Amino acid sequence: RSYWSDEAAAHLDGLEALVYASRRIGEDPALVLWGGGNSSAKVTMKDHLGRDTRVLWIKGSGSDMRTITAKQFTPLRLDELLPLMDREAMSDEEVVAYQTKCTTEPGAPKPSIETLLHAFIPAPHAYHTHADLICALTDTSDSQKLIRRVYGEDVGLIPYLRPGFALAKLVGEAIRRNPRMRAIVLDKHGLVTWGETPKAAYLETVKM
Ligand code: ZN
Repeated sequence: RSYWSDEAAAHLDGLEALVYASRRIGEDPALVLWGGGNSSAKVTMKDHLGRDTRVLWIKGSGSDMRTITAKQFTPLRLDELLPLMDREAMSDEEVVAYQTKCTTEPGAPKPSIETLLHAFIPAPHAYHTHADLICALTDTSDSQKLIRRVYGEDVGLIPYLRPGFALAKLVGEAIRRNPRMRAIVLDKHGLVTWGETPKAAYLETVKM
């Protein structure tokens, strides 16, 4: 079921479009358990010196998708996040300290703990939900087989890891290995979808 309105979304871009899409996900009770989940957009904008800068707008930690506003997103320099793909490991503390240095707006909310998962997805729009159906499907001992059978080969399945650097890196590597992949199920956790436009990424989420 889609809550998307082309008319309402027609004149939105960048952060405004991200707010719109996040609310559509947040108001769907089947998609977002307890207001959880997070969303992002990668855009090019001017920094304080007027230079073009690639920015990841990521949901701040703790805010509710259903009622989210632009102020609850945090802008981080994407080109400073991407080199982390080459690291072997990072603790949560290291990730948080690093992310703090990447913001273009000191005082913006603390970025989501799942920020790197969004950064490592090549597509410009990415949504992550803890959808009921996905959690039900993967809360079984045979989730690998079940996900394959339900979704086929173009949906990836990542084994359970708690949110953090290692999980983000697995997601980034899986997409780079199989560029035809259209979504990733995180075992016993949730769903990640992406797209070239906010609507495309949103529709991948509701299609699942
Ligand atoms: Zn999550």
